[in-house]
Amino acid sequence: RFITLEGGEGVGKSTNLEWVAQWLTAHGVEVVRTREPGGTPRAEAIRELLLSAEFEEPLDVDAELLLMFAARAQHLAQRIRPALERGAWVLCDRFTDATFAYQGGGRGIEPERIAQLEHFVQRGLEPDLTLLLDMPVEAAQQRLQGRLTASGHARDRFEQEHRAFFEAVRQAYLARAEAAPRRVAVIDADAPLATVQARLAECLESRVGA
Ligand code: C5P
Repeated sequence: RFITLEGGEGVGKSTNLEWVAQWLTAHGVEVVRTREPGGTPRAEAIRELLLSAEFEEPLDVDAELLLMFAARAQHLAQRIRPALERGAWVLCDRFTDATFAYQGGGRGIEPERIAQLEHFVQRGLEPDLTLLLDMPVEAAQQRLQGRLTASGHARDRFEQEHRAFFEAVRQAYLARAEAAPRRVAVIDADAPLATVQARLAECLESRVGA
């Protein structure tokens, strides 16, 4: 089985990914935990290139899109498909829904163009379940601010974007969920952690029968 976790910045993706991994392990499942862009050494090198705020030259939006899918092709070939073939469960932090959300909603690339690359690279493979953590952008930004200030963390190219960008990302994620309600579960992330996790467990039980 292939499970992906999605959501904008500051929705609690990392904490909940860890929790889902532990929940699956406790249910006797072999979990391969990974992330996008990245997940293999070469794909992580592409991630560096994508996130780097060092270059003065802007990154062309189509180049950004193609790099996302180049990283994904590598990740699928080297890590995701082999794991699925031997019967492991893959738990991935972001996947193609993030491309529709960020490069589509955020950067304005038409979804049809992204869908062409999706077919080219994935050849029909898609997640069995996508857990979309959703909350209003303003609340998520407040959480993120606290985290950035506390850690002194250098902001990457994407974290430097503006409110309207994140609003568009959120709406594109919600549109993906609406178009594929059997695959994508929308989880209200603006709730106490215990509530979010109870809902995650419910989705895992009912949709993938773990
Ligand atoms: O999930 P994570 O926070 O590690 O993602 C790293 C950065 O890459 C984030 O700022 C995210 O917004 C961005 N990203 C993106 N398009 C994708 C995947 C991630 O802009 N398809």
